[in-house]
Amino acid sequence: MMSACEAQKPHAVCVPYPAQGHVNPLMRLANLLQSRGFHITFVNTEFNHRRLIRSKGPDFVRGLPDFLFETIPDGLPQSDRDATQDVPALCDSTRKTCLAPFKELVNKLNSSQEVPPVSCIISDGVMGFGSKAAQDLGILDVQFWTASACGFMGYLQFSELAKRGIIPFKDENFITDGTLDMPVDWIPGMKYIRLRDFPSFIRITNLDDIMFNFMGPEAQNCLKSSAILFNTFKELEHEVLDAIVAKFPNIYNIGPLHLLGRHFHENQNKSLGSSLWKEDTKCLEWLNKWEPNSAVYVNYGSVTVMTEQHLIEFAWGLANSKRPFLWIVRPDVVMGGESATLPPEFYNEVKDRGYLTSWCSQEQVLAHPSVGVFLTHCGWNSTTETISTGVPVICWPFFAEQQTNCRFACTTWGIGMEVNHDVKREEIAEFVKEMMEGDEGKRMREKALEWKKKAVEATDTGGSSYNDFNRDFNLHSDQLISPHIAFI
Ligand code: UDP
Repeated sequence: MMSACEAQKPHAVCVPYPAQGHVNPLMRLANLLQSRGFHITFVNTEFNHRRLIRSKGPDFVRGLPDFLFETIPDGLPQSDRDATQDVPALCDSTRKTCLAPFKELVNKLNSSQEVPPVSCIISDGVMGFGSKAAQDLGILDVQFWTASACGFMGYLQFSELAKRGIIPFKDENFITDGTLDMPVDWIPGMKYIRLRDFPSFIRITNLDDIMFNFMGPEAQNCLKSSAILFNTFKELEHEVLDAIVAKFPNIYNIGPLHLLGRHFHENQNKSLGSSLWKEDTKCLEWLNKWEPNSAVYVNYGSVTVMTEQHLIEFAWGLANSKRPFLWIVRPDVVMGGESATLPPEFYNEVKDRGYLTSWCSQEQVLAHPSVGVFLTHCGWNSTTETISTGVPVICWPFFAEQQTNCRFACTTWGIGMEVNHDVKREEIAEFVKEMMEGDEGKRMREKALEWKKKAVEATDTGGSSYNDFNRDFNLHSDQLISPHIAFI
């Protein structure tokens, strides 16, 4: 039986999309809610639950009296690979199969004597079944959009792009014939946007495409919920956030969440993170060897894959830059599941200044004084993490709204330069040199430090994200989670 105090707690059921870049921010949010007196049920897929056990040990997922883990199946064939699952297959499967087991779980929680009744479901903005379950069961439905607000705005335009006849493209020539350079000037809050900067799922010649039909409707679906939380801060994306508010007023900008976390007592177990891969900690010691701002940090996040040729271009680009570098090469980073192989001459060339490993604690790496530039795929977590540490970026966006984030980083925020998708070693070496020694690089570093200051201010007591985090839910009284505890 739970204590009387436990029984009084508001109970949030949190359900992330089953990929690292979604589990991390939702885990951070759940931690903050817990520290504010919430009971948490954190729902992973069975596949990721097993991965968490392998990376963090069985104690981690045993949880705490007020922070429990539950699982639902993802609907895909059983596997125990330590690799990111196929994104379209996962989207299709979660959309078609997760509602029933998820509702069953919520009903089980609601009839349990061990946990307080469920007061709200906080589902990832791309897990629409979470919102459907909340609505069916008469529970408060909160959406957490874990990516950028500019990406969200991009997804909201999918149907409009089709209505205007801009997509589908007539044939595959659109990739090379300049079509993607067309400026798009009719989207509020999105300056400097061209077709190529939209979330990549518009690059289609047939509207019958899984990701196009998944992401557009998922974003629209968020507009039907009670509230949307964004892991961003007002100052960073104010124009686009104003445009979103004009469509949907009840938004909360509470990022960067990892910075906000510094105010709250996070329990030690969970605050260690939610890494699905085992982290190499030695790379931090290795970074200690180098001068401030001298090393290049390269990481493509958890989903990006590339051809072996591109991997080789990155390798020689880094080698030719003559700089120390920490390069994270996931075992599954090469397309088609082959493990990455690099020539012995490369290892020989970089043996004194290159550190290759498969996964690290990115936040700690970015916060290390030796890191001078981040070569990134522009995932939203990586982007907010680099902004929070004042590190400028060399961008190589892979897919989804990474293209949009890259555009904002290189224009509106002024902290980055973009590498051609068909990456060549010369360009990598040249960009690293410019970032480390050139005038443009210097300006970007200064800009990055300005954004860091703003991110810290936004999450300081009285800052915009701090205030949004403490703002009561502005809903009808019967929907208020608790009259005594601000939403978060
Ligand atoms: N990450 C990490 N270690 C790594 C690579 C990534 O801790 O070696 C974390 C990173 O800090 C971020 C997340 O994994 O929080 C990746 O999310 P992001 O949105 O940047 O990219 P995605 O993986 O979704 O493409």
